[in-house]
Amino acid sequence: MPHEPFRVYGNTYYVGVAGLSVILIASNKGLILLDGALPQSAPIIAASIAKLGFRVEDIRLIVNTHAHFDHAGGIAALQRASSASVAASPSGARALEAGGPTDDDPQFGFRNNGFPPVQGVRSVSDNETLRVGELAITAHLTPGHTPGSTTWTWRSCEVDRCLNIVYADSLSAVAAPGFRFTGDATRPSRVDGFMHSIARVESLPCDVLLTPHPELFDMDAKLQRWREQPNVNPFIQSESCKHYAVQARRNLQHRLDEERVASGKKQARRLALRDHGPRRNVS
Ligand SMILES: [Zn+2]
Repeated sequence: MPHEPFRVYGNTYYVGVAGLSVILIASNKGLILLDGALPQSAPIIAASIAKLGFRVEDIRLIVNTHAHFDHAGGIAALQRASSASVAASPSGARALEAGGPTDDDPQFGFRNNGFPPVQGVRSVSDNETLRVGELAITAHLTPGHTPGSTTWTWRSCEVDRCLNIVYADSLSAVAAPGFRFTGDATRPSRVDGFMHSIARVESLPCDVLLTPHPELFDMDAKLQRWREQPNVNPFIQSESCKHYAVQARRNLQHRLDEERVASGKKQARRLALRDHGPRRNVS
């Protein structure tokens, strides 16, 4: 479903659909697009870009936070419409080119999670800055939600005030059945890397936080507040990355507790089977 496009701050715009963010950064030398929502979102995104007075053909670079169908699905079509180059983390680039999550992705085991593959994706390294004219965005690898998760930062200015914009990737610990962030016999633990990513987002210079799921930066509530108080931009909140990180840490801790309880129960079941056999009531 469409969502009204709007200017977040300076040359940073929201051109996503309802419930899935897509961000546009504009200059007169070309545009940068971040994420592509669902495959069927591409024409809606293109319409939103046009509604703001920009041209899809002027997109020079498309980058991705993480290669799941709901954030990467529209990228192939938008790439074709614009001839833009596409860039992502090394793991993200592999997933984009494959048209689906890599087999080390926590959500790999979910069915029907493919999307149109993207050709010729450029890999970026941690802290690498990509430029389009005077626009410069920096990649921060923040693995956790996916192995290739990437947070992107840039600066946007209005008159004489420049702000740090953070498009922080999802930090939620969501996995298909059977996957454990704490690791198992076949996979190492992801916990340290995930915690590191959360701390990284927490420490970024951050005046405006945007995330792939708009409810995680309270987009619609902020837009409502903006209508009521047009002189105060509600998206400028210097503590927002810290709050996002605190919430993510709590969410991950909850997930790890669940995994421990589940493996404790499994262990108890195994012992009960050993001691009492399969048919006895052991409660
Ligand atoms: Zn995802």
